[in-house]
Amino acid sequence: MATSLLRVAPPEELLRPLAVPERLLLGPGPSNVPRRIQAAGGRQLLGHMHPEVLQVMDEIKAGIQYAFQTRNRLTLAISGSGHCAMEAALFNLLEQGDTVLVAVNGIWGQRAADIARRLGANVCELLKPPGKYFTPQDIEQGLVQHKPLVLFITHGESSTGVLQPLEGLGELCHRHGCLLLVDAVASLGGAPIFMDQQEIDVLYSGSQKVLNAPPGSAPISFSERAREKLLRRKTKPPSFYLDMGWLANYWGCDGEPRRYHHTAPINSFFSLREGLAMLAELGLESSWERHRANCTQLCQGLTDMGLELFVEEEKARLPTITTVRVPEGYDWKDITAFLMDNHGMEIAGGLGPTVGKVLRIGLMGCNSTSGNVARVLGALRDALKRCHRSRL
Ligand code: PMP
Repeated sequence: MATSLLRVAPPEELLRPLAVPERLLLGPGPSNVPRRIQAAGGRQLLGHMHPEVLQVMDEIKAGIQYAFQTRNRLTLAISGSGHCAMEAALFNLLEQGDTVLVAVNGIWGQRAADIARRLGANVCELLKPPGKYFTPQDIEQGLVQHKPLVLFITHGESSTGVLQPLEGLGELCHRHGCLLLVDAVASLGGAPIFMDQQEIDVLYSGSQKVLNAPPGSAPISFSERAREKLLRRKTKPPSFYLDMGWLANYWGCDGEPRRYHHTAPINSFFSLREGLAMLAELGLESSWERHRANCTQLCQGLTDMGLELFVEEEKARLPTITTVRVPEGYDWKDITAFLMDNHGMEIAGGLGPTVGKVLRIGLMGCNSTSGNVARVLGALRDALKRCHRSRL
C-alpha cells in the first residue's frame, strides 16, 4: 500500500461548516451589510476585463462622483481598504523630500504621518488634543510656517468622534501653493462634503461604513490640480499596485484603451456598486439628515443616562460615530463584552489616543435608525447595572 507523502493533515476546523453568527455591528465599522448588497457580492464572477464589469466600474465611478460631489475625471475605487486609499493618496502625491503638513488630532493623522515618513517625505505635524478640531487660523499658521506641498486632514476622526469643518480650507491651501488631502472614510454619506465646491484635491473613503458594503474597496478622487502634480513627478510612485497612472487607465479615466493592471476584486465592486446605488436612491441630503437626527437622539439618550460625551461642542460631533467617556467605576472591556455576549451587539472601546477613555458607537448607513438608537441605549442601561466593578 502506498504511504502518503503528506505530513500535514487536512485541518479539522475546515471540515466543519463556516460559522458566522448574526450580530448588530454598532462599532466604528464595519457596519451591517443589507441583503441587497450581500446578494450583489454573491453573484457569479465575471472576468475583470469583461465589458459588463467595465460597465459596473463606470457606474461605481459615477456613484463616487455623486457621493463626493465632484466632476473629477480621475475618480475610481482602490482594490483595498481605507488604509490602501490613504497609501494610494500619499504614495502618488508625495516624492522623497516633499514637505507634507499633517493635522494630527487622533490616530488617522498619526498614521498618515507614519506612511509619509516611510516615503522619505519631510513630515511636519500640526497638533490638537483628541476631541478638538482645527480652525482655519490653525491651518493658516501651519501653512505659513512649514510651506507644505500637501496638507492631510481627517473629516471624520473616528478615534475621537470629531467632525472637522472643511469650509475655506481648500481655498486657504491653494492660496499657499498647497494641495488639500482629506480622509472621509468614516464620514462619507453621513456628513456633508462637497469635493469641488470645497476645493479638495484628493478625497478618499471606504466601503464598509455608511456605504454598508464589505471592506475591501475604497473610493478615491483626484482634482485637476492633484492630477497635474502626479504628471510632474520626477520618480514613479513607490507602489506598482497603487500607481494612479495604471489605475486611471484600468478605470477608463485617461481616454486610452483599458489595459490589465491587476485582477480586481470584482465581487467587492458589485457590492460597492449597490452600496453607492442605495445612497443615490436615498439621496445625499436625506442620508446626512438621517445620520444627524439619529446621532442627536443617541447623544440625548446617553446624557440622559448620566454619561458624558467626549466631544463637548455639539457641532463638532461626527454624526456617524459617537464617543462617550467610560464612566467612573467601569472598565470599557466589561461593557463591550457584556453587549456582545448578552445583546449580540458590537460597540467599541477607544483607539489610539482614546484607548481606555471612551466607548465608540457607530450608526452608519442602514444601521442609522431610531430603532438601533433605542436598542443600544437599552443595552447600555443594562450594562451599567451589571458591569460596575463593585459587582464583578
Ligand atoms: N480613516 C478613518 C477615518 C477610518 O475611520 C478608518 C477605519 N476605521 C480608516 C481610515 C482605515 O480604513 P480601513 O480600516 O478600511 O483600512
